[in-house]
Amino acid sequence: MTRLVLLGATGSIGTQTLDVAKRLDITPLALASGSGTPEFVATAHRYRDSMLAVAHPIDMSGLRSEFGDRISFGPDAVMALAALPDAVVINGVVGFAGLDATLAALEAGNRLGLANKESMVTAGAFVREALQRGGGTLIPVDSEHSALFQCLEGEPRPAVRNLILTASGGPFRGKSRDMLSSVTPEEALQHPTWNMGARVTIDSATLANKGLEVIEAHYLFDVAYDQIQVVVHPTSIVHSVVEFVDGSLLAHMGEADMRIPIQYAITYPDRAQGAGEFSIAGRTLEFEEPDTEVFRALALAYEAGRVGGPAPCVFNAADEVAVAAFLAGQIPFLGIPEVLERTLAKFDGRQVESVADVKEVDAEARALATDAVRALSR
Ligand code: MG
Repeated sequence: MTRLVLLGATGSIGTQTLDVAKRLDITPLALASGSGTPEFVATAHRYRDSMLAVAHPIDMSGLRSEFGDRISFGPDAVMALAALPDAVVINGVVGFAGLDATLAALEAGNRLGLANKESMVTAGAFVREALQRGGGTLIPVDSEHSALFQCLEGEPRPAVRNLILTASGGPFRGKSRDMLSSVTPEEALQHPTWNMGARVTIDSATLANKGLEVIEAHYLFDVAYDQIQVVVHPTSIVHSVVEFVDGSLLAHMGEADMRIPIQYAITYPDRAQGAGEFSIAGRTLEFEEPDTEVFRALALAYEAGRVGGPAPCVFNAADEVAVAAFLAGQIPFLGIPEVLERTLAKFDGRQVESVADVKEVDAEARALATDAVRALSR
Protein backbone atom coordinates (compact mmCIF):
# COMPACT_ATOMS: atom_id res chain seq x y z
CA MET A 1 0.00 0.00 0.00
CA THR A 2 1.37 3.41 -0.99
CA ARG A 3 2.06 5.58 2.07
CA LEU A 4 1.00 8.89 0.55
CA VAL A 5 1.92 12.09 2.36
CA LEU A 6 0.35 15.17 0.82
CA LEU A 7 1.76 18.61 1.61
CA GLY A 8 -0.36 21.58 0.56
CA ALA A 9 -3.52 19.48 0.68
CA THR A 10 -6.01 22.23 -0.19
CA GLY A 11 -4.10 23.90 -3.03
CA SER A 12 -4.51 23.19 -6.71
CA ILE A 13 -1.93 20.36 -6.68
CA GLY A 14 -3.30 19.07 -3.38
CA THR A 15 -6.90 18.69 -4.50
CA GLN A 16 -5.82 17.11 -7.79
CA THR A 17 -3.56 14.70 -5.86
CA LEU A 18 -6.57 13.64 -3.79
CA ASP A 19 -8.45 12.95 -7.07
CA VAL A 20 -5.57 10.76 -8.22
CA ALA A 21 -5.37 9.00 -4.84
CA LYS A 22 -9.05 8.18 -5.07
CA ARG A 23 -8.60 6.78 -8.58
CA LEU A 24 -5.65 4.66 -7.35
CA ASP A 25 -7.61 3.59 -4.25
CA ILE A 26 -5.01 5.12 -1.92
CA THR A 27 -5.99 6.62 1.43
CA PRO A 28 -3.50 9.35 2.31
CA LEU A 29 -1.33 8.52 5.29
CA ALA A 30 -0.95 12.20 6.12
CA LEU A 31 -2.16 15.62 5.02
CA ALA A 32 -0.51 18.98 5.68
CA SER A 33 -1.64 22.52 5.15
CA GLY A 34 -0.22 26.01 5.54
CA SER A 35 -2.84 27.62 7.74
CA GLY A 36 -5.68 25.15 8.38
CA THR A 37 -8.44 26.85 6.41
CA PRO A 38 -12.08 25.63 6.46
CA GLU A 39 -11.28 23.67 3.26
CA PHE A 40 -8.54 21.86 5.13
CA VAL A 41 -10.91 21.08 8.00
CA ALA A 42 -13.44 19.66 5.53
CA THR A 43 -10.73 17.58 3.82
CA ALA A 44 -9.42 16.33 7.15
CA HIS A 45 -12.91 15.12 8.08
CA ARG A 46 -13.12 13.18 4.82
CA TYR A 47 -9.92 11.26 5.66
CA ARG A 48 -10.52 10.14 9.23
CA ASP A 49 -7.42 7.97 9.50
CA SER A 50 -4.89 10.43 8.08
CA MET A 51 -2.37 12.20 10.27
CA LEU A 52 -2.59 15.98 10.02
CA ALA A 53 -0.17 18.89 10.32
CA VAL A 54 -0.68 22.62 9.96
CA ALA A 55 2.39 24.85 9.61
CA HIS A 56 0.96 28.19 10.74
CA PRO A 57 -2.51 27.58 12.22
CA ILE A 58 -4.99 30.43 12.24
CA ASP A 59 -6.99 28.75 15.02
CA MET A 60 -4.85 26.21 16.87
CA SER A 61 -7.20 25.52 19.77
CA GLY A 62 -10.16 25.05 17.45
CA LEU A 63 -8.22 22.57 15.33
CA ARG A 64 -6.94 20.78 18.43
CA SER A 65 -10.43 20.30 19.84
CA GLU A 66 -11.71 19.16 16.44
CA PHE A 67 -8.97 16.65 15.63
CA GLY A 68 -7.31 15.81 18.97
CA ASP A 69 -4.08 13.86 18.80
CA ARG A 70 -4.09 13.27 15.10
CA ILE A 71 -3.15 16.88 14.36
CA SER A 72 0.17 18.60 15.07
CA PHE A 73 1.35 22.14 14.50
CA GLY A 74 4.31 24.12 13.22
CA PRO A 75 6.69 23.86 10.27
CA ASP A 76 8.52 21.04 12.11
CA ALA A 77 5.31 19.02 12.21
CA VAL A 78 5.02 19.31 8.43
CA MET A 79 8.67 18.23 8.07
CA ALA A 80 8.00 15.25 10.35
CA LEU A 81 5.22 14.07 8.03
CA ALA A 82 7.53 14.51 5.02
CA ALA A 83 10.09 12.29 6.78
CA LEU A 84 7.70 9.43 7.68
CA PRO A 85 9.39 6.17 6.69
CA ASP A 86 8.80 4.71 3.21
CA ALA A 87 6.51 7.54 2.20
CA VAL A 88 5.62 8.86 -1.20
CA VAL A 89 5.54 12.59 -0.52
CA ILE A 90 3.79 15.00 -2.86
CA ASN A 91 4.99 18.52 -2.14
CA GLY A 92 2.34 20.87 -3.47
CA VAL A 93 3.21 23.76 -1.19
CA VAL A 94 3.34 27.10 -3.02
CA GLY A 95 6.51 29.16 -2.80
CA PHE A 96 9.70 29.19 -0.76
CA ALA A 97 7.79 27.80 2.24
CA GLY A 98 8.02 24.36 0.61
CA LEU A 99 11.81 24.06 0.82
CA ASP A 100 12.18 22.54 4.31
CA ALA A 101 9.71 19.76 3.60
CA THR A 102 11.48 18.95 0.32
CA LEU A 103 14.76 18.57 2.20
CA ALA A 104 13.16 16.54 5.00
CA ALA A 105 11.54 14.10 2.56
CA LEU A 106 14.79 13.58 0.65
CA GLU A 107 17.02 13.27 3.73
CA ALA A 108 14.66 10.52 4.91
CA GLY A 109 15.17 8.64 1.63
CA ASN A 110 11.56 9.00 0.56
CA ARG A 111 10.09 9.26 -2.91
CA LEU A 112 9.37 12.94 -3.48
CA GLY A 113 6.94 14.08 -6.14
CA LEU A 114 8.00 17.70 -6.42
CA ALA A 115 5.45 20.28 -7.47
CA ASN A 116 7.16 22.96 -5.39
CA LYS A 117 9.55 24.25 -8.05
CA GLU A 118 10.81 26.94 -5.67
CA SER A 119 12.72 24.27 -3.71
CA MET A 120 14.79 23.47 -6.78
CA VAL A 121 15.14 27.10 -7.89
CA THR A 122 16.27 28.55 -4.57
CA ALA A 123 18.33 25.68 -3.21
CA GLY A 124 18.90 23.27 -6.09
CA ALA A 125 22.41 22.26 -5.06
CA PHE A 126 21.31 21.49 -1.50
CA VAL A 127 18.26 19.57 -2.69
CA ARG A 128 20.49 17.39 -4.86
CA GLU A 129 22.82 16.77 -1.90
CA ALA A 130 19.89 15.75 0.29
CA LEU A 131 18.70 13.40 -2.45
CA GLN A 132 22.12 11.75 -2.63
CA ARG A 133 22.50 11.45 1.12
CA GLY A 134 19.03 10.01 1.64
CA GLY A 135 19.11 7.67 -1.35
CA GLY A 136 15.47 8.31 -2.23
CA THR A 137 13.92 9.36 -5.52
CA LEU A 138 12.99 12.79 -6.82
CA ILE A 139 10.31 12.87 -9.47
CA PRO A 140 9.21 16.21 -10.84
CA VAL A 141 5.49 16.91 -10.90
CA ASP A 142 5.72 20.17 -12.84
CA SER A 143 4.22 19.10 -16.18
CA GLU A 144 7.21 20.19 -18.27
CA HIS A 145 9.73 18.51 -16.01
CA SER A 146 7.67 15.35 -15.72
CA ALA A 147 7.68 15.33 -19.53
CA LEU A 148 11.46 15.79 -19.67
CA PHE A 149 11.96 13.17 -16.94
CA GLN A 150 9.94 10.67 -18.97
CA CYS A 151 11.73 11.48 -22.24
CA LEU A 152 15.12 11.14 -20.51
CA GLU A 153 14.35 7.76 -18.91
CA GLY A 154 17.07 5.28 -19.90
CA GLU A 155 18.93 7.79 -22.09
CA PRO A 156 22.66 8.39 -21.52
CA ARG A 157 23.23 12.02 -20.54
CA PRO A 158 25.91 12.77 -23.21
CA ALA A 159 23.27 11.91 -25.82
CA VAL A 160 21.23 14.98 -24.85
CA ARG A 161 21.68 18.07 -27.02
CA ASN A 162 18.91 20.31 -25.70
CA LEU A 163 15.99 20.37 -23.34
CA ILE A 164 13.07 22.27 -24.88
CA LEU A 165 10.49 23.54 -22.42
CA THR A 166 7.12 24.42 -23.87
CA ALA A 167 5.14 27.43 -22.66
CA SER A 168 1.51 28.10 -23.45
CA GLY A 169 2.41 31.78 -23.66
CA GLY A 170 -0.30 32.64 -21.14
CA PRO A 171 -3.29 34.90 -21.75
CA PHE A 172 -1.21 37.77 -23.21
CA ARG A 173 0.70 35.96 -25.95
CA GLY A 174 1.27 38.23 -28.94
CA LYS A 175 0.50 41.42 -27.00
CA SER A 176 2.77 44.48 -26.99
CA ARG A 177 4.09 46.19 -23.87
CA ASP A 178 1.64 49.03 -24.45
CA MET A 179 -1.28 46.64 -24.45
CA LEU A 180 -0.10 45.12 -21.16
CA SER A 181 0.25 48.38 -19.26
CA SER A 182 -3.34 48.33 -17.98
CA VAL A 183 -3.89 44.60 -17.40
CA THR A 184 -5.95 43.77 -14.29
CA PRO A 185 -5.44 40.82 -11.92
CA GLU A 186 -8.75 39.36 -13.18
CA GLU A 187 -7.46 39.36 -16.77
CA ALA A 188 -4.10 37.91 -15.76
CA LEU A 189 -5.81 35.11 -13.82
CA GLN A 190 -7.51 33.79 -16.98
CA HIS A 191 -5.17 31.07 -18.16
CA PRO A 192 -6.04 29.66 -21.60
CA THR A 193 -5.13 26.00 -21.05
CA TRP A 194 -4.07 25.08 -17.50
CA ASN A 195 -6.08 25.16 -14.29
CA MET A 196 -3.64 26.25 -11.56
CA GLY A 197 -3.22 28.33 -8.40
CA ALA A 198 -3.07 32.14 -8.42
CA ARG A 199 0.67 32.64 -8.18
CA VAL A 200 1.58 30.22 -10.95
CA THR A 201 -1.20 31.63 -13.15
CA ILE A 202 0.18 35.17 -12.84
CA ASP A 203 3.68 33.77 -13.34
CA SER A 204 2.45 32.12 -16.54
CA ALA A 205 1.13 35.47 -17.76
CA THR A 206 4.52 37.18 -17.19
CA LEU A 207 6.56 34.09 -18.27
CA ALA A 208 8.32 34.29 -14.87
CA ASN A 209 6.97 30.77 -14.37
CA LYS A 210 8.83 29.57 -17.45
CA GLY A 211 11.93 31.32 -16.13
CA LEU A 212 11.62 29.48 -12.82
CA GLU A 213 11.15 26.27 -14.81
CA VAL A 214 14.35 26.86 -16.79
CA ILE A 215 16.27 27.15 -13.52
CA GLU A 216 14.39 24.14 -12.12
CA ALA A 217 15.38 22.09 -15.19
CA HIS A 218 19.01 23.14 -14.81
CA TYR A 219 19.18 21.75 -11.27
CA LEU A 220 16.92 18.73 -11.81
CA PHE A 221 18.70 17.41 -14.88
CA ASP A 222 22.16 18.96 -14.47
CA VAL A 223 22.05 20.58 -17.92
CA ALA A 224 23.72 23.90 -18.83
CA TYR A 225 21.53 26.96 -19.48
CA ASP A 226 22.75 27.11 -23.09
CA GLN A 227 21.14 23.72 -23.58
CA ILE A 228 17.76 24.71 -22.17
CA GLN A 229 15.38 26.39 -24.60
CA VAL A 230 11.86 27.72 -24.31
CA VAL A 231 9.30 27.63 -27.11
CA VAL A 232 5.78 28.97 -27.01
CA HIS A 233 3.25 26.26 -27.84
CA PRO A 234 -0.22 27.72 -27.38
CA THR A 235 -2.28 24.53 -27.30
CA SER A 236 -0.26 22.89 -24.50
CA ILE A 237 -0.37 19.44 -26.11
CA VAL A 238 3.40 18.90 -26.08
CA HIS A 239 4.55 19.28 -22.49
CA SER A 240 8.28 19.38 -23.33
CA VAL A 241 10.83 17.94 -25.73
CA VAL A 242 14.29 16.42 -25.48
CA GLU A 243 16.55 16.85 -28.49
CA PHE A 244 19.30 14.26 -28.81
CA VAL A 245 22.67 14.54 -30.52
CA ASP A 246 21.61 12.20 -33.33
CA GLY A 247 18.87 14.62 -34.38
CA SER A 248 16.01 12.70 -32.74
CA LEU A 249 13.49 14.65 -30.73
CA LEU A 250 11.34 12.94 -28.10
CA ALA A 251 8.25 14.87 -27.08
CA HIS A 252 5.80 14.11 -24.30
CA MET A 253 2.19 14.78 -25.27
CA GLY A 254 -1.13 14.56 -23.54
CA GLU A 255 -4.05 16.42 -22.08
CA ALA A 256 -3.17 19.57 -20.13
CA ASP A 257 -4.13 17.88 -16.87
CA MET A 258 -1.87 18.03 -13.80
CA ARG A 259 -3.30 14.75 -12.56
CA ILE A 260 -1.22 12.94 -15.19
CA PRO A 261 2.20 14.01 -13.85
CA ILE A 262 0.95 13.68 -10.26
CA GLN A 263 -0.14 10.10 -10.91
CA TYR A 264 3.12 9.27 -12.69
CA ALA A 265 5.12 10.49 -9.67
CA ILE A 266 3.09 8.18 -7.43
CA THR A 267 3.10 5.06 -9.64
CA TYR A 268 6.60 5.43 -11.15
CA PRO A 269 8.10 3.36 -12.71
CA ASP A 270 4.71 1.79 -13.39
CA ARG A 271 1.73 3.40 -15.05
CA ALA A 272 -1.86 3.04 -13.95
CA GLN A 273 -5.20 3.72 -15.62
CA GLY A 274 -5.79 7.43 -15.63
CA ALA A 275 -7.25 10.08 -17.87
CA GLY A 276 -9.34 9.06 -20.86
CA GLU A 277 -8.04 8.52 -24.36
CA PHE A 278 -6.42 11.45 -26.11
CA SER A 279 -7.02 11.68 -29.84
CA ILE A 280 -4.25 13.43 -31.78
CA ALA A 281 -6.21 13.47 -35.04
CA GLY A 282 -7.06 17.02 -36.05
CA ARG A 283 -4.72 18.63 -33.54
CA THR A 284 -2.13 21.13 -34.65
CA LEU A 285 1.26 21.63 -33.09
CA GLU A 286 2.68 25.11 -33.44
CA PHE A 287 5.83 26.42 -31.85
CA GLU A 288 7.21 29.94 -31.80
CA GLU A 289 9.99 31.89 -30.12
CA PRO A 290 9.04 33.62 -26.88
CA ASP A 291 9.03 37.44 -26.97
CA THR A 292 11.52 38.27 -24.25
CA GLU A 293 11.29 42.01 -24.97
CA VAL A 294 7.68 42.03 -23.82
CA PHE A 295 8.02 39.20 -21.31
CA ARG A 296 11.24 40.32 -19.68
CA ALA A 297 10.88 38.05 -16.68
CA LEU A 298 12.01 35.11 -18.80
CA ALA A 299 15.24 36.83 -19.86
CA LEU A 300 15.88 37.93 -16.28
CA ALA A 301 15.48 34.33 -15.07
CA TYR A 302 18.11 33.12 -17.55
CA GLU A 303 20.42 35.87 -16.32
CA ALA A 304 19.82 34.97 -12.68
CA GLY A 305 20.36 31.30 -13.46
CA ARG A 306 23.67 31.96 -15.22
CA VAL A 307 24.90 34.19 -12.39
CA GLY A 308 24.03 31.35 -10.01
CA GLY A 309 24.80 31.51 -6.29
CA PRO A 310 22.04 33.49 -4.58
CA ALA A 311 20.59 34.98 -7.79
CA PRO A 312 17.91 32.33 -8.50
CA CYS A 313 16.70 32.62 -4.91
CA VAL A 314 16.61 36.42 -5.25
CA PHE A 315 14.62 36.09 -8.47
CA ASN A 316 12.08 33.83 -6.79
CA ALA A 317 11.72 35.96 -3.65
CA ALA A 318 11.27 39.13 -5.70
CA ASP A 319 8.70 37.42 -7.85
CA GLU A 320 6.67 36.17 -4.86
CA VAL A 321 6.59 39.72 -3.51
CA ALA A 322 5.83 41.30 -6.89
CA VAL A 323 2.98 38.90 -7.70
CA ALA A 324 1.37 39.49 -4.30
CA ALA A 325 1.69 43.25 -4.83
CA PHE A 326 0.13 43.00 -8.30
CA LEU A 327 -2.78 40.90 -6.99
CA ALA A 328 -3.28 43.45 -4.20
CA GLY A 329 -3.47 46.25 -6.76
CA GLN A 330 -0.26 47.92 -5.56
CA ILE A 331 1.73 47.68 -8.78
CA PRO A 332 0.78 47.34 -12.44
CA PHE A 333 1.32 44.14 -14.40
CA LEU A 334 4.51 45.48 -16.01
CA GLY A 335 5.72 46.37 -12.51
CA ILE A 336 6.37 42.66 -11.88
CA PRO A 337 9.48 42.37 -14.12
CA GLU A 338 10.47 45.85 -12.94
CA VAL A 339 10.57 44.59 -9.33
CA LEU A 340 12.55 41.54 -10.44
CA GLU A 341 15.11 43.65 -12.27
CA ARG A 342 15.54 46.20 -9.48
CA THR A 343 15.87 43.53 -6.80
CA LEU A 344 18.42 41.50 -8.76
CA ALA A 345 20.44 44.67 -9.47
CA LYS A 346 20.54 45.66 -5.80
CA PHE A 347 21.51 42.30 -4.39
CA ASP A 348 25.20 41.75 -3.61
CA GLY A 349 27.03 38.79 -5.10
CA ARG A 350 27.68 36.75 -1.98
CA GLN A 351 28.10 32.99 -1.91
CA VAL A 352 25.54 30.60 -0.48
CA GLU A 353 27.12 27.72 1.40
CA SER A 354 24.18 26.33 3.34
CA VAL A 355 20.40 26.23 3.48
CA ALA A 356 20.64 28.81 6.27
CA ASP A 357 22.39 31.14 3.81
CA VAL A 358 19.59 30.55 1.31
CA LYS A 359 17.03 31.60 3.93
CA GLU A 360 18.98 34.77 4.66
CA VAL A 361 19.13 35.58 0.96
CA ASP A 362 15.39 34.96 0.65
CA ALA A 363 14.59 37.31 3.55
CA GLU A 364 16.87 40.07 2.29
CA ALA A 365 15.60 39.78 -1.25
CA ARG A 366 12.02 40.08 0.01
CA ALA A 367 12.93 43.28 1.84
CA LEU A 368 14.58 44.71 -1.28
CA ALA A 369 11.62 43.68 -3.43
CA THR A 370 9.22 45.30 -0.97
CA ASP A 371 11.22 48.54 -1.30
CA ALA A 372 10.97 48.24 -5.07
CA VAL A 373 7.20 47.73 -4.83
CA ARG A 374 6.93 50.84 -2.66
CA ALA A 375 8.96 52.89 -5.12
CA LEU A 376 6.75 51.74 -8.00
CA SER A 377 3.46 52.30 -6.21
CA ARG A 378 4.23 55.89 -5.28
MG1 MG B 1 4.86 23.96 -15.39
